[in-house]
Amino acid sequence: MPALEQNCTADCHDSYISNNSDWVNVETVISTSPDQIAIAPGSLQREWSQNGRRYFQYKLDHAGLNYYSFLSARYEVARTDWNGINIEVYYLKEQPWNVPKMLNSVKKSFEYYTKNFGPYPQKQARIIEFPRLAAFAEAFPGTMPYSESIGFIASIQKPDDIDMVFYVVAHEMAHQWWGHQEVGASMQGATLLVETLAQYSALMTMEKEYGRDTMRKFMQYEMDNYLRSRGAELLKERPLLRVEASQGYIHYRKGSVVMYYLREMIGEEAVNRALRKVLNKYGYQPPPYPTSYALVDALGEETPPQLQYLLQDLFYDITLFSNRAVTATAHKGPDGKYQVTVETEARKFKADEKGNETEVPVDDWIEIGALAAPEKGKRFGKVLHRERVHMTSGKASYSFTTDEKPDKAGIDPLLLLIDRVPDDNMVEVTVQP
Ligand SMILES: [Zn+2]
Repeated sequence: MPALEQNCTADCHDSYISNNSDWVNVETVISTSPDQIAIAPGSLQREWSQNGRRYFQYKLDHAGLNYYSFLSARYEVARTDWNGINIEVYYLKEQPWNVPKMLNSVKKSFEYYTKNFGPYPQKQARIIEFPRLAAFAEAFPGTMPYSESIGFIASIQKPDDIDMVFYVVAHEMAHQWWGHQEVGASMQGATLLVETLAQYSALMTMEKEYGRDTMRKFMQYEMDNYLRSRGAELLKERPLLRVEASQGYIHYRKGSVVMYYLREMIGEEAVNRALRKVLNKYGYQPPPYPTSYALVDALGEETPPQLQYLLQDLFYDITLFSNRAVTATAHKGPDGKYQVTVETEARKFKADEKGNETEVPVDDWIEIGALAAPEKGKRFGKVLHRERVHMTSGKASYSFTTDEKPDKAGIDPLLLLIDRVPDDNMVEVTVQP
């Protein structure tokens, strides 16, 4: 993509989605076989039959990107509504299993996004099944084609299975704000304003629905994917600020980890205030389109002085940690509580775009903590203690108290930092009499 520019005007006249139009109105007349339903963006204006064909006329309720989809099939339709907005899932009769989950995810998305980001401009939200000729879902204004292979036939049964159906719907719904209301200029960093924000939004919606424990498994999946993929990069790994549109492992996977961590550090309200600021300034506005600086600067305004280094680490640079727990011991006191002592080691690196690493001093706020033994069938135990401490490079020792018996203790217990070897962050606690 064209190189990122800090103060662009002429070069920001196209979004990365389209180079031939800005916000357009769409009206469609579409015909299909008599036993099928044809779907175009917008509200259904009328429906009729003519010469053995079934006709539909749709009109978009709010101008959108010059970007839409047309589908037709023998659909069943599940309908509900959220505050007057029609929610519809068009699906194959034989594959009804996850339809209720999809309707629920659309509702939960509306709840979080309208409250935290702003109003929804269309009058309907549709999920429309298509065959597994391709395995993706994609958001168009008010309309989300969704492959059967990544949702409609998914089986989610174990207690801590990641609910990818709920998650993908929440991600695509988030594009109704990030992508369809504000969209990045056609240069590096554009997808930070769209894909990374859709990831963040979906993470928040999923956390509200399933709780923190499920998030840890998901965040570990995102982190593993990022670390594995950067090892397979053939050209240059860009920092998030200058991510290329083709680098999904950065704008999705690293983007999730970075935004979740930033939310932990500066708080959800602060992150959402920054996002609203970007949306208020750029939503449905004529060019120039925003660059990734618009978002990072807005986040910077919400970040307290002692945490400003996070913006450099997370967005401008490629930053990696190699943190580990060395030892962990505990004594049970007469009050039944456990006095825990952990020895940790913190190391921090900056990587260049070819992967060469340089160690830099640690001068960071990092968590220490302890977990209980996991319950049967679960991957992670309950969090017994979390505490943010200021760390410098090398080894250090910390003490704290837990109410219950600790199973593991160490550094960055929730794996919030991008760590080259996440598995050694926690060690088993030796409980001494
Ligand atoms: Zn997306």
